[in-house]
Amino acid sequence: MNMPRFWREKQGRYNLVGNRCTNCGTYYFPKRDICPKCHRKSIGKMEEVRFKGTGKVVSWTIVHDAHPDYKDMRPYIMAIIELEEGPRLTGQIVDCSLDEIHTGMRVRDTFRKLSEDGKDGVIFYGYKFRPVKE
Ligand SMILES: [Zn+2]
Repeated sequence: MNMPRFWREKQGRYNLVGNRCTNCGTYYFPKRDICPKCHRKSIGKMEEVRFKGTGKVVSWTIVHDAHPDYKDMRPYIMAIIELEEGPRLTGQIVDCSLDEIHTGMRVRDTFRKLSEDGKDGVIFYGYKFRPVKE
């Protein structure tokens, strides 16, 4: 992840912020300037939203071969999560054993360190997900 992209996306990464088309009610993450369903009708009607942070796992994979920045964490679970409001995003699942993960598992967001740049000591924070214990 390069720095300009990180800073541009920082607000969304910290807060799980997206937006919603008030014309048709569809939620988006990341934010869209216009609604792909409504096109011109959505101009000026996109409203910023902070997602509740709850959702379910729709698919997942166990990552054994990680980027060197993440080698301390492997193996780890990456999942596609469908938020309660509808958008899907990719996130790491934490506080979950490898045999516990399953499709349909309820999760909620948690604020965690994503990676640390060794030389500069820059720490990237962002959302991850953990199981909701029911
Ligand atoms: Zn729309």
